[in-house]
Amino acid sequence: MSNVYDLFAAGARNGDVFLQDDAGKVQYRYDQLDAMTARLGNRLLRAGAAPTDRVMVQVQKSPENLLLYLACLRAGLIYLPLNTAYKADELRYFNDNAEPTVIVCDPASVSWFSSLSGLRPLTLDADGAGSLTNALDEESAEFKTHPCATDDTAVIIYTSGTTGKPKGAMITHGNIESNATTLSRCWGWRQDDVMLHALPIYHVHGLFVGAHLPIMNGSAITFLDRFEPNRIISALPESTVYMGVPTNYTRLLASPDLNVGTCRNMRLFTSGSAPLLSTTFNEFQERTGHTIVERYGMSETGMNTSNPLDGARRAGTVGLALPEVACRVVDDAGAQVDSETTGHLQVRGPNVFSGYWRMPGKTAEEFTPDGYFRTGDLASIDADGYVSIVGRNKDLIISGGLNVYPKEIETVVDSIEGITESAVIGVPDPDFGEAVTGIVVRNPGHSITEQEIIDVLRSRIANFKVAKRIHFVDELPRNAMGKVQKNLLRERFGRQGT
Ligand code: AMP
Repeated sequence: MSNVYDLFAAGARNGDVFLQDDAGKVQYRYDQLDAMTARLGNRLLRAGAAPTDRVMVQVQKSPENLLLYLACLRAGLIYLPLNTAYKADELRYFNDNAEPTVIVCDPASVSWFSSLSGLRPLTLDADGAGSLTNALDEESAEFKTHPCATDDTAVIIYTSGTTGKPKGAMITHGNIESNATTLSRCWGWRQDDVMLHALPIYHVHGLFVGAHLPIMNGSAITFLDRFEPNRIISALPESTVYMGVPTNYTRLLASPDLNVGTCRNMRLFTSGSAPLLSTTFNEFQERTGHTIVERYGMSETGMNTSNPLDGARRAGTVGLALPEVACRVVDDAGAQVDSETTGHLQVRGPNVFSGYWRMPGKTAEEFTPDGYFRTGDLASIDADGYVSIVGRNKDLIISGGLNVYPKEIETVVDSIEGITESAVIGVPDPDFGEAVTGIVVRNPGHSITEQEIIDVLRSRIANFKVAKRIHFVDELPRNAMGKVQKNLLRERFGRQGT
């Protein structure tokens, strides 16, 4: 029996800064952690929640939001964070599917949520005020941490649901404990690290990786409500670790103020949630002297791989399988492929979730008989064990009966002078089934043409992989985690035909 809250509380050292803003104002110290989670836990219990109940949360990022998460862990309640961008129909679905006992929402959404659920929601605004935290001193600062088994669900994270309905991934206390401990070791976390945190905390990247590591080590977190390049650059000299999605890095690089001097105190930059372009990796290294550590994970598994802290950090790869995590690549028939060969990536380990909430059929489909989870990502592993993600399975293009991996074409297109980045998709085509189509962002002032790009592709890759059409856009559509939304591109350019 062990509640993962104990791992986090163990890192706390009296008097040390827990959460601070980027003006240096201390919001919480570690010696307040137990009392705060106790008071919040007591308030949640008084609101009717009992262990294993779902606490559905849709609020702005704030220190109190993070404390609410920790209080749920401690009380054995299942924390269910929702992206603040979700709208009525999506929220209705989550509410029906998860059947929460307590809802915590922004004060502005109270009446909407209460008519949806019949519950009286607790509220929390962007400043951490609301009925969840008002007069919190009146709640007892004593709380008996609920004993949990390692396979008890701690958090439900809904997958983004670009194909079918979102599925609630059940993350256990054991998943969190093993992944946090492994990553902390691999990244050489130190108590005196200062984590610069500007990711949302409704997602694994910001909630699990970004928050777990500093908390379990009792390190300070500079907590920004959102990513703003100028605020990040101003805070870098007082920080040692920064975690971002690739678009964060391209936006930081767009500022002339990012340089060796601003990064002088930094120990570690990590990137994940979407592929980091080699150009970004190289440019960042040249400008700051730091080599970004790219890692790979997902809601269902936490982190699976990382480039090493000591040893080669290879651009375009997500590094090596983490200790305790097994990664393998298989073909369509499920047989393991040779190194360097692209196939379906499967992972197994104590980090892998227990299943999809109330979807035993879906859960069974996604696990192999020998216990590997089918990630849905296409990847290859080289002879040294470095994993390269080639893209999502569903983004694979089958043109004229042949498999085309978008990443391969994107890499060639991106290397052409004058091109910022690209996304390659398949659009319905009467002849080929799907036609390879490139969506391209040109560097400002460059006027490379569709025909010129197609000519380069013809000279560099097999004919069946060459894009039939190239469309130009000002920027690629991305979600909050920096992932290119290929479904939107397929909708937009699929209709126009080729
Ligand atoms: P999510 O569950 O929202 O975290 O999304 C997980 C997916 O993000 C993975 O299955 C990958 O497709 C993608 N992803 C995460 N990290 C990386 C990375 N470093 N490079 C490429 N894709 C990534």
